Amino acid sequence: MTSLEDIQVTALKGVGASLAATLARLGVHSLQDLLFHLPHRYEDRTRIVPMGSLRVGDVAVVEGEVAKADLMMGRRRSLQVTLRDDSGFLVMRFFHFSAAQKNQLAEGQRVRCYGEVRPGRAGYEFYHPEYQVNPAPMASHSEATLTPVYPLTEGIQQPRVRSLCQQALAYLKRYPIRDWLPPAMLADYQLPGISEAVELVHAPPADAPVHLLMEGRHPAQQRLVMEELLAHQLSLLRVRQQIQAREALPLLPRGDLVERFLDSLPFRLTGAQQQVMSEIRQDLSQPVPMLRLVQGDVGSGKTVVAALAALQAIGSGVQVAMMAPTEILAEQHYNNFREWLEPLGIRPGWLSGKVKGKARAAMLEQVASGESAMVIGTHALFQNDVLFDRLGLVIIDEQHRFGVHQRLALKEKGAADALAPHQLIMTATPIPRTLAMSAYADLDTSVIDELPPGRKPIETIALPDSRRDDIIGRVRDACRTGRQAYWVCTLIEESEALQCQAAEVTAESLRERLPELKVGLVHGRLKAQEKATVMQRFKEGELDLLVATTVIEVGVDVPNASLIIIENPERLGLAQLHQLRGRVGRGEEASFCVLMYHPPLSGNGRARLQALRESQDGFVIAEKDLEIRGPGEVLGTRQTGMMQFRLADFERDKGWIEAVREMAPAMMGDSGSVDAIIRRWLGERIRYGDV
Ligand code: ADP
Ligand code: MG
Repeated sequence: MTSLEDIQVTALKGVGASLAATLARLGVHSLQDLLFHLPHRYEDRTRIVPMGSLRVGDVAVVEGEVAKADLMMGRRRSLQVTLRDDSGFLVMRFFHFSAAQKNQLAEGQRVRCYGEVRPGRAGYEFYHPEYQVNPAPMASHSEATLTPVYPLTEGIQQPRVRSLCQQALAYLKRYPIRDWLPPAMLADYQLPGISEAVELVHAPPADAPVHLLMEGRHPAQQRLVMEELLAHQLSLLRVRQQIQAREALPLLPRGDLVERFLDSLPFRLTGAQQQVMSEIRQDLSQPVPMLRLVQGDVGSGKTVVAALAALQAIGSGVQVAMMAPTEILAEQHYNNFREWLEPLGIRPGWLSGKVKGKARAAMLEQVASGESAMVIGTHALFQNDVLFDRLGLVIIDEQHRFGVHQRLALKEKGAADALAPHQLIMTATPIPRTLAMSAYADLDTSVIDELPPGRKPIETIALPDSRRDDIIGRVRDACRTGRQAYWVCTLIEESEALQCQAAEVTAESLRERLPELKVGLVHGRLKAQEKATVMQRFKEGELDLLVATTVIEVGVDVPNASLIIIENPERLGLAQLHQLRGRVGRGEEASFCVLMYHPPLSGNGRARLQALRESQDGFVIAEKDLEIRGPGEVLGTRQTGMMQFRLADFERDKGWIEAVREMAPAMMGDSGSVDAIIRRWLGERIRYGDV
């Protein structure tokens, strides 16, 4: 039986090869694609607004008589058409226009137009509005409907997309869209069937409640939202299924590496660490690849858990790769692991983009021969020429920066016909529950929900930068009593160069102001060796104060540091601030965090600093962050692709997430319908299989 998926857009009137190519850029090939090219909002053109009541920024339909039409010369030639109604006047301005247009818009003509109000030379203006001359009478209010607005690409305009969708709707009668959701479920949630929903969103009837449609809360929209969220969920479960269809080596360690490591630690694992460790041990002992996410607040001791997993793998005779998003964090891990593993007779290898030439060749050789049981590094580990002898476990410290695609790339790192490696993903800060359920649906989750004993709360205060002198005094006092401090310089992202420069200037001035202190400086532009030296000196207490850019946000661990000053915290996201603050509060002493902001604070900025002062619980802060910034920002740019929906809005629609998560696994058995739903919503945007 033919379905709308089999009918190409060229079947529609007026669609030739060139328009088809334009539509293809929108991911639209078939009539089904077209019908799932959904309006992302609506315009209310159901009534004519009196010109006298318009305000700047209003988007409205007006109607009136042409009072005059002038060709304006000036710097940019334009056609200026003044319309008048009973209440006032409005100018339509065209910078591009034809002679025919000019003749058509003659004095005395009746014109209806639609546009956005801007302040202009001649009063309120519409630039290049859509307009009709001598319009048919407006549908009476009871017949008028909202106008859908579609996502566009270059070479195609709203009216064209609108009319194509209307044409496609006519096919719905003969070829209804297959509904993949069970009728019982639709009834449960009181949602319409798929064809009905699609028709309604493209052509809302006059009696449909306008406010629901405008807000995306109409049952027809919600039906589609739910299916879209389900499609995303299914696509991640599909990834998981693909990975777990491969075999992995069960890791059953011989010997006592794990026990010897535990004995060497100066502390005992927390209950939460033990719990997570046993979940990991259970996964690793299976013949399917582990896919596990470990979440924990800053300082909850994720690295130790990673080390335990690594030792279980090494003890089973396989290799471990551990990857971090930044050089400085990777290095921190490298140093930690060396300290922990060398006494056990294991020498971790190091690989970053900066390892070149002979050193790199030697490293690759050690990895390929299996001589290196563990290698730690950055993205450099993803590169094609990095081949392992028997890779058994991949640990990714994610810091919200790797995407699912990169995670998948690693699964191919074993030798050609080798078994798939187990994967352990750690996030630097907690992820809100709903977000984790959506973006990490392909992973099992473990949570370290307990901090090591004896952690003192960090007192957080916000001060304007006019109090800089007092703050410098605080640094002096802290360091005088043998404590150490961080001073973090932030600048608007993007320019790393400027950030480093700011840190240099700040370090210079602090050295002048605090001559009795030893002040170090670390930023992203230092050579790896220089960075390591500075960090080492700070760690050993040779430096009192460390001036840094946000490079220290992750992983740096110096328990004697008990004061952190963060400049311009209003520029950073909540999670990042929480992560930075987590550099202190790791030792015996009471710790402080000073947020030195530049007034005036925006409402949003104030909300963030407030949230930080009020809570130290990373999970609470993560929820706030999601509320304030939205999912794309919270997950980091690399993963926003995952969260780009056609219709769904994470905040508005998060009520569905739990339901969808429960529904999805039960559907996985029917792979035909799963593929169909994924294709319908994600189309060619994400081809997991090829990554
Ligand atoms: P995270 O990566 O979760 O922020 P880390 O693994 O860096 O935390 O651990 C933070 C600090 O706490 C480190 O100095 C680590 O040695 C220490 N630590 C880890 N687990 C424990 C524990 N169970 N008891 C005491 N200290 C611990
Ligand atoms: Mg860490």
